[in-house]
Amino acid sequence: MPPSTYAAPVRLILFGVRGSTPSPGLDFVRYGGHTSCVGIVPEGGTTPTLVLDAGTGLRELTPFLAGAPFHGSILVSHLHWDHVQGLPFFAAGDRPDAKVDLHVPAQNARTGRDLLAAAMAPPNFPITPEGLEGQWSFSAIDAGYHTIEGFRVRATDVQHKGGRTFGYRVSDDTGSMAYIPDHVVSHGIDDAVRDLILDVDVLLHDAQFLDRERPTADNYGHSTVEDAVRLARECGVRHLVLFHHSPARKDEALDEISGMYPPEFVTVAAQGGVIEVRRP
Ligand SMILES: [Zn+2]
Ligand SMILES: [Zn+2]
Repeated sequence: MPPSTYAAPVRLILFGVRGSTPSPGLDFVRYGGHTSCVGIVPEGGTTPTLVLDAGTGLRELTPFLAGAPFHGSILVSHLHWDHVQGLPFFAAGDRPDAKVDLHVPAQNARTGRDLLAAAMAPPNFPITPEGLEGQWSFSAIDAGYHTIEGFRVRATDVQHKGGRTFGYRVSDDTGSMAYIPDHVVSHGIDDAVRDLILDVDVLLHDAQFLDRERPTADNYGHSTVEDAVRLARECGVRHLVLFHHSPARKDEALDEISGMYPPEFVTVAAQGGVIEVRRP
């Protein structure tokens, strides 16, 4: 028999799938209550080296690493609480042998450290970013192309509300994924955003609201489930993962949404889920 050339594909681990604020309780057990955080396991790897957003779901990465420190990078889409509040509770990253490079969208000519410290410093929080143990770096990155943890990363501005927000496309030679957790699309979608997700193998997209909740979606700077499906179809996305659920959306309601679309095209993100990224 020839030696096996099979390597496990790039995998996305969904550590947190909610928007706005965590949603604990019996009505949210199956889809999970943690806010946005997705780990990317490289081809052939077993644990994430690149993490998208640091919502409360980031806490789930620590047991996943089974006692090992985190060595890798965190890409933050924007600085709203539901995308950064897991940081100071990330035990695998907050220890002397951890090594973490964190990237946030550049804005207002401030350093990455200072952008984070606007919410993470006394009196808002007991420690500043430097209070995290281990070797941390905090950088403010621009839109465009980057190489991070061996992945090609493209950062593009997306319309949201209150501060600069990036969508990311992450790819290697085996496949591509795009991550746009917060995005208002009802006023038009930028060509650059369409290009970001064009023909991508997997798209994780904001699906916080439903079309019947349009006024709230627009006011909060978010998309509806129907917006996300429309956009994915228009841009040749191979598989759409509905992400950043409303904290009020109960398990039964998410089951209903799941039943509206073919499973080979649409997955409703559930905490603990694993999505393979592989070009067919
Ligand atoms: Zn959000
Ligand atoms: Zn937001």
